[in-house]
Formats: sequence, C-alpha cells, structure tokens
Amino acid sequence: MTRTDDFLHKQLKTYFGFHTFKGQQEAVIRNILAGQDTFVLMPTGGGKSLCYQLPALIMDGTAIIISPLIALMKNQVDAIRGFITDNNNIAHFLNSSLNKQQLADVRKSLLNGDTKLLYVAPESLIKEENIQLLKQLKIAFYAIDEAHCISEWGHDFRPEYRRLRTIINDIGLAPIIALTATATPKVQNDIQKNLGMLKAKLFKESFNRPNLYYEIRPKNNPEREIIKHIKNNPGKSGIIYCLNRKKVEQLADILRLNDIKALPYHAGLDPATRAKNQDSFLMENTDIIVATIAFGMGIDKPDVRFVIHYDTPKSLEGYYQETGRAGRDGGEGHCIAFYSQKNIQKLEKLIQGKPLAEQEIGKQLLLETVTYAETGTCRRKVLLNYFGEEYPHPHCDNCDNCLHPKPLFQAQQYLTILLKTVTALLEKFKTEHIINIITGNLTTLIKSYRHHELREFGKGTEKTPQFWQTIIRQAIILHLLEKEIENFGLIKITDTGLAYLRQPYPILLPEDHNYLHDDNDDDTPFQTTKTHGSFDQELYTILKAQLHHLAHRLDIPPYAIFQDPTLEDICIQYPTTIDELKNCHGVGEGKAKKFGQEFINIIKKYVDDKQITRPQEMLVRTLINKSSLKVHIIQSIDRKIMLDDLALSKGLEMTQLLDEIEAIVASGTKISIDYYIQQTIDDDKADHIYEYFYHQAQTDSLEDAIQTLNGDCTEEEIRLIRLKFMSDIGQ
Ligand code: ADP
Ligand code: MG
Repeated sequence: MTRTDDFLHKQLKTYFGFHTFKGQQEAVIRNILAGQDTFVLMPTGGGKSLCYQLPALIMDGTAIIISPLIALMKNQVDAIRGFITDNNNIAHFLNSSLNKQQLADVRKSLLNGDTKLLYVAPESLIKEENIQLLKQLKIAFYAIDEAHCISEWGHDFRPEYRRLRTIINDIGLAPIIALTATATPKVQNDIQKNLGMLKAKLFKESFNRPNLYYEIRPKNNPEREIIKHIKNNPGKSGIIYCLNRKKVEQLADILRLNDIKALPYHAGLDPATRAKNQDSFLMENTDIIVATIAFGMGIDKPDVRFVIHYDTPKSLEGYYQETGRAGRDGGEGHCIAFYSQKNIQKLEKLIQGKPLAEQEIGKQLLLETVTYAETGTCRRKVLLNYFGEEYPHPHCDNCDNCLHPKPLFQAQQYLTILLKTVTALLEKFKTEHIINIITGNLTTLIKSYRHHELREFGKGTEKTPQFWQTIIRQAIILHLLEKEIENFGLIKITDTGLAYLRQPYPILLPEDHNYLHDDNDDDTPFQTTKTHGSFDQELYTILKAQLHHLAHRLDIPPYAIFQDPTLEDICIQYPTTIDELKNCHGVGEGKAKKFGQEFINIIKKYVDDKQITRPQEMLVRTLINKSSLKVHIIQSIDRKIMLDDLALSKGLEMTQLLDEIEAIVASGTKISIDYYIQQTIDDDKADHIYEYFYHQAQTDSLEDAIQTLNGDCTEEEIRLIRLKFMSDIGQ
C-alpha cells in the first residue's frame, strides 16, 4: 500500500488535529502500512500510540492492541473515541472489567467490522473464547505496547507476555508492531526473539532528554531535603516515588503537615480515591503526588517539574521511565534520586526471596543502579550508554557530575589490568566473574575454571568490586570493551581495546562518589533517628560542655534544655541564628529564645573557623511517627479540642492519647495544652507539679515523679503537666 505524503498528513489532521508528525512517526506508519513488522523505541511522551492508531484507522480490518494496564485501557479508548466523535464503536477494549452486556456489545461491533482498534489485556487474550472470537476477524496488525514486559530483563516483566507469539499464530498471522520506551539492547533482542520478529525494521529515537537534570543525593534526612526542594519551587508539579505504600502514606502526611499540597497514590487505595488523587494532580489542585511506581504509566502531564526518587530505584530501566515523566513539554525537569547503601541492602533482601534465575537478573540490574549512583562520570552519558546509545559529547552540563565535577584519577594501570583479564578469559565471561578474578575472590566458578591460576588473579585487591565495576563501565564508554548483547553480559575486547593494550596511554577518569559516610537512612523518620555517628562529634563535645555549664548556672537539669537527639541534630544542621535553631529537632520557639544565643555564638564561631558549608536554612514541621492519627491530634490540639473528647472520638484510652502526644512533643513539634490543663487541674496542684519538674527532678522519669509527688496527684495529671513543662521549657 503506498500513500502520498499528502494523504497521511491529511489523515493526521482529520483524525488527530495535528499538522506534523513527531519524530519518526511517519516512517513508522509507512512501514506498518506496507505490512512490515516494526519495532519502535521511543522515549516516554514520544508519541508511540499514534504510530498504531493512525494506521489502524486507515487499514482494512481490526488492529489488536495489547497493553498491560487494564486501568489505562479505558482512557485510551476514550481518547481515541474523543478524536472520532461520531462513532463509539471505532474502538473497544476487552478485559476482565466488562460485564456480560458490554461483552456482547463489543462482540457485535467486532463481528460487524465496525471496530478498528481493539485493546486487549494479555490475560484476556489467552482466553479460549476470545481467541475463537478474534479468529473470525480480519486482523490488520498486532500492536504490542509496553513491549519491554516481554523480557525478564525489562523493568516490568509479565509472564503472560511471553505467550503472545503462540496466541497470535493461533488467531491468525498479521504484521506485528512492538513499542516501548525503555529497552536496553538485551531487552530489545529478547522482545524481537520472543515475538519472532528478528527481522523487524527498527525505529529508534534518541533517548536523550536534554532538558532533564539528573542528580543523585546521599539519603540523609530525605524528608527535609524534599520539603526544602518543594518550598523552593512553589506551585510546581512534582512526583515523588517511594518503594512501598507505607512510605507513600507517611511522606504524603509529612508534606501536608508542612502545608504542601500532596496526595498519595498506590495500588492499596480504593479505585475511587486513586482516581480522585490522580485527577486532583492533573487538574493542579494538588502540587505533589507521592506514589509507588504504580503511578505514572500513561500519565501525560506535560509540566511535571520534578521527579524525586525517595528510595533508590531497583533498576535503571524503571528509573529512566519514571524520570521521563518530568519536563515532557521540553521545559525544566529536575530528577533527584536519593541513594543509600542501606536501601540497596533492602532491595537485595527482597530479591533473595525470588526464584534463582530472577535473583541473578535482579542482582545485575541492581549493580547497574549502584554503579550509576556512585559514578563521577556524566550521568547522561552513563544512562544513554546503558540503553545502547552513545552520547556524542564529553559531558552534558546538565547533571550533578557535570556541574560539580569529581576529582580525576589516573586509570591507566586499572584499565590495563582489566583488559588483560578479559583477554586471558578469551572473552567468555561476564562482569561479575571478571571482578571476582581481579579482586581475588575465590568463588566456586573460579575454582572450577582454575582462574585463580591466571596472572591477573588478585591484581586489584586494593580496590573494591564497586570500583572495578566502574572501571568496566568506563572501559565500555571508552569503547575499549563491549558487552555482548545476545548472551547478556559477555565482555569482549574491541579493536580499540587491543590497540590500547599494545600501547597504553594515560587516561584520567572521575572518582566515584563515596556515600558510605552519609548513610543515615531510613524507615525511622529523621526526627527520631539516632544519627549514627554522622553528626559533627567535635562540635557535639563542645556543645555538651556548654550545656552542662548552662544547666548548672540556671539550676535546671540539662535534659530540660537540650536532649541528646537535639544536640546531634544541631551538629548536623549548624544553626547560626535563633530561627534556624528552632528548626532543629526538639527545639521550639521558647527554648530557642531562652537558651539559644549562647549555643548559636559557639556554633557560629565554629562554622567560621572551620569554614563549614551548612545545610540551608529551612522550616520543617516534624512528626515522629507520621501516622495520620498524629496529624489529627496536632490539628485538634491547635483547635483546642478537649483531650477527653479527642480520645473518645478516636476510640483511645486517655493514657494512649497521652502516649501519642508525648511522642509528638518529643519529636520537637510544639503544641500547647494549657487550655485543657486550666480546665481540668487545680491551679495550685498544677504549679506544684510544674515546680517539681522545674527544680527538683533530675530526669523526666514518670516513676520518679509519682514517687516524689507522693500520691497527691494522679498519674494523668503528672503527665499533663510534664507535657506542658516539656513544651514550655523543652520546646
Ligand atoms: P508515548 O506512548 O510514546 O509515551 P503518547 O502516545 O502517549 O506517548 O503521546 C504523548 C503525547 O504526544 C500525547 O499527548 C499525544 O497526543 C502527543 N502527540 C503524539 N503525536 C503527536 C503529533 N504528531 N503532534 C503533536 N502531538 C502529538
Ligand atoms: Mg504509550
């Protein structure tokens, strides 16, 4: 079928209202119209859907579109019906959500030949009755969207996808078009092999997204950094990805508590809430969506200004797909991912529960993520290289590594060791094995091949496996080595590599990041986290001494001034004004004013003397255990709700409510329960208890207080006054 330029453009305009094709759309469509198998690799937002929608509308018969997400099918069908306003039968979907009547309607429309596009979920496609139905149709072609789902090496493997070829054979042969936005060369090969379309014509667009800025940050107080980023970018839309639902809920709570319009999104929410939150984001009633990776497939919001990965991603495929949702309009798109070794260990644990083959794959993918995070090389270069594309410039000037270059080191000796090892192995082994040899790690595999007898064995023990992984990646970027795609990971030496071995020359490479000392992760929110040694010990010692002086002078216990977590936080934040001090853990307005100045003076001098770069000033309202209950309690107390009513309304005992409030206060959130105390405790009694905590107590222990106060006061009264005391003095 040949069509003139004019014809296709006219169709484009008529059906979709667009004047020009995007990227390679036209070439793709021509290939499909010519009845050829077609493989489309285009980044997210590249306009893949149109590549099959337009030919489906033009060609005879029905196009079968296989797509993994039932939830999105309806949207897609609605969208295409929206273009072709006068005919609802033009597109239908077939999945488990349809009732009998709807199924009958779809059937009728199909058999009448009215339907040009039929969207099918793979699990519906394998059903016998559907196969029988489709057999009776004239199939124009099969489009397989999100085709990376076919490969175990993709980021979203779905076993049903592997049966597609057999089913297609059964229904009836027709051209196949496979589309995806993320495929490493390995995944691409997998897809083509599995679909029996190795000869398909490939249309690949650059994956480079020049407007996206990539940055990796150590995972130190990520909540604080996220809030800071959002507050510095008011009114901008952003997506924050977390690994699990619990974290999603917690983070969304925290953000809301800090007056940020944020909503959660994950598969555990009921469909109505999910849809509502998504709409609210699309309609810009909500700035921020905090989500699991369930969010975003098919979301086409053009002006998402940042995508933040709160947790370190499982694979670069997923990461790239998710960051791809930023800046679709070509405008600003900040992609920030938090990285911590602990996160990686957690992911490794998750992988361990899986079947062996999957573990292997999972580990490899994770190692790639680690290498990416720790590399000091241009991130764009590394990412594109990972997806089989060469970035033609030495650096991009739009990632953290380019803007803040790492020091360089001389890599010649390491590259030589590596290239020699690969040659000695006759190019028959993968990264992991090569690293084990160089670092002298005697594995069973090494023993069985007697590779410990190689000259290169143990040549690089002074460096970590991580370091060698980087050297391998660098050697690939430098074209000294290449990774064989067909058998994933076999490392081969190139002609350039051979030449280098014959005549080595100095090559400077950027050092990796070292995040080891920054590890202050994770599930325990930052407000209560004991900061394992990552605070400034020297300053801590100075401030601790000052604390004791001051306590002595004022004749109050040191704990009533600053407790340890506060000092530790101060030694991370280096506050140099009273306002900044207020933002430290456990420091409220009163405390900052009352005790702060002397500390501030010391810190200021210390910071100046040592030329310390401080985390920027910011305001975070914190919450220790960020349950929505705590949010509710804080808000209720702000509104002066009586505590007994509050307890009742939440189905709590009073003691339980006090537990919660104590935790809130201990986390440094200022609350005032004076209104309640005034109404429930006799003034004299209240003073008496207050006096005890002020002058007598050595600790804030409740037992001591009960004993000393000697039965005059109830436990509840003591706890209430202690709360007030901690809030007045302590905050
Ligand atoms: P992908 O599936 O590749 O992520 P989509 O098919 O969802 O991308 O398309 C992304 C956006 O680009 C959609 O809003 C779509 O309407 C738009 N689009 C597609 N083709 C064109 C075109 N030729 N001209 C203008 N906009 C287009
Ligand atoms: Mg798409």
